[in-house]
Amino acid sequence: MAKQGILIVLSGPSGAGKGTICQELLRSDPELNYSISATTRAPRVGEQNGVNYWFVSHAEFQQMIEKDELLEWAEVYGNFYGTPYQHIAELLNNGKDVVLEIDTQGATQIKKKFPQGVCIYIVPPSLDELAKRIHKRGTDSLENIKTRLGSANDELTHVHNYHYVVVNDEVQRAAKKVAAIIIAEKCQVNRNMNIIENILIESK
Ligand code: 5GP
Repeated sequence: MAKQGILIVLSGPSGAGKGTICQELLRSDPELNYSISATTRAPRVGEQNGVNYWFVSHAEFQQMIEKDELLEWAEVYGNFYGTPYQHIAELLNNGKDVVLEIDTQGATQIKKKFPQGVCIYIVPPSLDELAKRIHKRGTDSLENIKTRLGSANDELTHVHNYHYVVVNDEVQRAAKKVAAIIIAEKCQVNRNMNIIENILIESK
């Protein structure tokens, strides 16, 4: 059987810098694939359909659920977000690694369906820094910022469901740590049994 790709889940409170880390990872490793989520949230300035998200209506999202097209989905800050399954299943089956940037509810569902997935939690160095980053980003309304900061404490309690935690004190450094985790995971014995078996066959 061909070697399966690795499913990498990145989560963390809003403003922790998952998006920037993801971009850095994809820039430094062209082999890595990003799973584009579907969402009912309105696009922010500069966001593009099919690049940042698939922006869909509530009815379209509901249809995706009914047709069982989503690997996981959740309601986050009043909007729906979900991971379309078909494309990432093809990538994984072709040995390609896929990164998902999703919330803690989605990660819990992935852990059940994909126990071999690797779950990484990104944290900011402090809650003060988190507040500064969300304000600086300037893409959210004041009310939205309040909601996001209010959930940050609660969000952090989910870290125990993850395999790794990475502090995003500096993007390049944090991205390097995530890349190192991916490399180490690729070297796990149970992901490489086919290579060992081939070596043993050759030596007979
Ligand atoms: P934002 O609105 O800032 O782009 O995303 C809000 C939250 O939704 C973030 O925590 C983000 O990781 C999460 N999110 C984005 N896509 C998905 C998805 O497909 N599934 C789930 N469960 N969460 C998602």
